[in-house]
Formats: sequence, C-alpha cells, structure tokens
Amino acid sequence: MVTITCPVCKRQIRVEWPQDRGDFEEFIVMHGDHVFKAYVDKEGFLRRAWPVRFLHATDA
Ligand SMILES: [Zn+2]
Repeated sequence: MVTITCPVCKRQIRVEWPQDRGDFEEFIVMHGDHVFKAYVDKEGFLRRAWPVRFLHATDA
C-alpha cells in the first residue's frame, strides 16, 4: 500500500498498485464519486496524478 494525495479532493488516500506492472503504467483510480489518472513507475512511485472526467458509454 502507498499513501498518495488525491488530486481531486486533496485528501490522503491509500492504493495498492498491481504487482505485475510495467516500467511505467497508467491507472484509473476511483475515490468515492470521483476519478483520476495515475502514472506510476516500476518502483511504485507516483510520477503524476491528474483529475479526469468519468463517462459512461453505451453500445452504438
Ligand atoms: Zn479524492
């Protein structure tokens, strides 16, 4: 588990990155009713985190 700051609500949150990560990987993290993207390196260090809008898609 790592403690990071949610870029949307600025609260301290805890997440567990998957063990089978690549050197750099992006994740979508949900925290309560909001969502952000996280860019994580091989050591599990959070390089960037930024808010994104969450959309629902339907079949065309
Ligand atoms: Zn949050």
